[in-house]
Amino acid sequence: MRAWVVDRPGPVASGPLRRVDRDLPEPGPAQVRVRVSVCGVCRTDLHLAEGDLPPRRPAMTPGHEVVGRVEAVGSAVTRFTLGDRVGVAWLAGTDGSCRFCRRGAENLCVAPRFTGWDIDGGYADACLVDESFAYPLPDDRADEEAAPLLCAGIIGYRALRLAAVPPGGVLGIYGFGGSAHLTAQVALAQGLRVHVLTRGARNRELAASLGAASVGGPADAPPEPLDGAVLFAPAGELVPVALRALDRGATLAVAGIWLSAIPPLDYDAELFQERRLRSVTANTRADGEEFLRLAVRLGVRATTHAYPMADAPAALADLAAGRFDGAAVLHN
Ligand SMILES: [Zn+2]
Ligand SMILES: [Zn+2]
Repeated sequence: MRAWVVDRPGPVASGPLRRVDRDLPEPGPAQVRVRVSVCGVCRTDLHLAEGDLPPRRPAMTPGHEVVGRVEAVGSAVTRFTLGDRVGVAWLAGTDGSCRFCRRGAENLCVAPRFTGWDIDGGYADACLVDESFAYPLPDDRADEEAAPLLCAGIIGYRALRLAAVPPGGVLGIYGFGGSAHLTAQVALAQGLRVHVLTRGARNRELAASLGAASVGGPADAPPEPLDGAVLFAPAGELVPVALRALDRGATLAVAGIWLSAIPPLDYDAELFQERRLRSVTANTRADGEEFLRLAVRLGVRATTHAYPMADAPAALADLAAGRFDGAAVLHN
């Protein structure tokens, strides 16, 4: 099969990805092999390609928003059969036994495995997934539309929950890419007022068309104090900006796995009055299942841009340069 691998991590213009031929992987007892139909492009793939996130294994295939059909099953598989449509997401495995797994916080597992970082992902013809970490997918979504739900959607949803905006309250969203445009739809459908602060004319237009109450630049002050905010842009310099926009007692959740350096914070202007700053680390399977149900019920729709799998480097370059709104999806 053909697979993209991160060959030499570096700026996307230097060509960090290489396409190779590999044997089809054989599923272990509890694994299924998925014939990849599409794979969404997540900013984490860019961080891995560019080396912001250190490689955990050489020549890893990125991609953790995989939609495809089960084409081979291990001897102990019970949840899926050949031909089932499944989604493969970021969380690929946990130890199931550490203190965090035991208390239901498997996103904090001390020995997690991630798709496209620890095990090969979906920028390929096929990939493996442990059956207990694969998601059955709602029938009402085409493959291309379902893919961005699997990371952008799930992580954004967890970030929204951690931002803890009270019912009917005001949410600020900093940065408006693949994850934010899905999260905004959940927040709006749940009755929050949403202010979006982002660069890029296309992103601002998308935010306005989805129903944001206001759309401004990243450094602008929103028109009213925020009851909670999510920082999607991987820009540490926006942390103090967003904290200053919070009302008393409100939370800023940082959704990304990677953030540039945060400047020194001013305790009085940015943290006092019980403002909170917290990170969002991966997700539990329960988050994923809950979000996929909600996405159907609330009519969350991904704005997508299709690329052939052969153009994976171009999709990453376009993401890096902010050349599309919504999310890119690679097609086999
Ligand atoms: Zn664990
Ligand atoms: Zn992701």
